[in-house]
Amino acid sequence: KKMGLNEIRNEFLDFFQEKNHLILPSFSLVPKNDKSLLLINAGMAPLKPYFTGDSIPPNKRVATCQKCVRTGDIENVGKTDRHATFFEMLGNFSFGEYFKDEAIEWAWEFMTERLEIPRENIWVTIYFDDDEAFEIWNKKIKISKEKIIRLGKEDNFWELEVGPGGPCSEIYIDRGEEYGCGKSTCKPGCECDRYVEVWNLVFSQYDKDEYGNYNPLPNPNIDTGMGLERIAAVMEGADNIFEIGIINDLLKEVEKISGEKYGKDKKVDESIRVITDHIRAITFLVSDGVLPSNEGRGYVLRRLIRRGARHGKLLGIDGIFLYALSEKVIQLWKEEYTELAENEEKIKRIIKIEEEKFEETIDQGINILNKYIEDMENNNEKTLSGDKAFKLYDTYGFPLDLTREILEEKALKVDEKEFNIEMEEQRERARNARDGSKREAWGKDELTSRFKEFKTKFIGYTTTESNSRI
Ligand code: ATP
Ligand code: MG
Ligand code: MG
Ligand code: MG
Repeated sequence: KKMGLNEIRNEFLDFFQEKNHLILPSFSLVPKNDKSLLLINAGMAPLKPYFTGDSIPPNKRVATCQKCVRTGDIENVGKTDRHATFFEMLGNFSFGEYFKDEAIEWAWEFMTERLEIPRENIWVTIYFDDDEAFEIWNKKIKISKEKIIRLGKEDNFWELEVGPGGPCSEIYIDRGEEYGCGKSTCKPGCECDRYVEVWNLVFSQYDKDEYGNYNPLPNPNIDTGMGLERIAAVMEGADNIFEIGIINDLLKEVEKISGEKYGKDKKVDESIRVITDHIRAITFLVSDGVLPSNEGRGYVLRRLIRRGARHGKLLGIDGIFLYALSEKVIQLWKEEYTELAENEEKIKRIIKIEEEKFEETIDQGINILNKYIEDMENNNEKTLSGDKAFKLYDTYGFPLDLTREILEEKALKVDEKEFNIEMEEQRERARNARDGSKREAWGKDELTSRFKEFKTKFIGYTTTESNSRI
């Protein structure tokens, strides 16, 4: 069945409205009253207080289409068929009301009856000891046991740093042998792109506290998440999530700006996909009030803009272009996300300022890095020293991941430990300069508590976004 992004989104929300869910609009990408999370990365994230019982939900059944950003996936973008840093997540939620049976039955009904996905293409995974889920899939839905894969905690246990979580069951679509790695062990959960994970059903029955205890919730919850772009790509039989509907229109705009053609060269395609992805994330982040900075979510935005700018250079784009490209994003998504049109001026202005700033140093920085690479190759060295990487960061505005990525293209590394030490020293200097006058007066306890605050801030961020290395 042919359905675009908007049709699938509407179909999903209509379906769950018919099942007595209250439809809520997407929340902002910036979490409210939640220090454990840098950016909203799942449909359930802004609903956390309803799961823990800290707030009373407006309805026990809710469905949303939520804007999400996952910086942990930044290095997958352009490389896998299925990862974006910005994407929309469809989800249905039960706050202590319905549980596994309904969640599974409705997911199945939606996939097979509304989207008309052939049942033989659908596989599922469950948490390894979740026999209850197995029974429902096998006995009620009648999926053969070979197509129900038991996986461990890494894949099928969903949790945040703290808060609600539990075992899950995921739905995969088999795209056919031609997408596979060909290994006899290839099945859902395999690294290759044959089986695409589209929907995660989380049976959230625990509330994890800050000490790592799993406290059973009195009324277990349902939290599901389906990637809109992924399911759309499956429905269209597209190769990857950048080749569908209006995302493809955006990709075409990147082709136009760069004068490059998509689909001929692997490296070019990768850069085109990175820009297509990053400009969506950038536009939505600025629209939700994030400003470029050297810390926290502002740094996520800065990295995305700088990474986008660098891929622009790789495509041979002259000068700044991202701010102009954001106009296309606004045009394409403003009907669904009206805030984009309201914030249009601000979005373009902020991206432009940040782009101009980097434009002044990016060429110089790339030249210097190329010189470092040349020296390394001549001396048969594999690792760039941390202080050189730090100089690139400090003087030329190269985020560490950008330096790392450029080096990786030449099979080289960067001494990240040393970089982080330099970074820490700089923060310390900045702090001392700021607090210089009061410094002497501090007692030991004050110092420790400030250090703790600092530590939770940073460790909190990096562990929540497990693979993002800020
Ligand atoms: P994957 O294993 O493919 O990285 P995930 O297990 O990390 O996905 P979940 O946390 O289960 O993903 O999120 C629920 C759904 O959101 C996924 O099943 C998928 O459809 C979608 N999704 C997750 N990450 C991305 C992404 N980076 N880009 C697009 N869609 C995504
Ligand atoms: Mg993932
Ligand atoms: Mg997964
Ligand atoms: Mg998953």
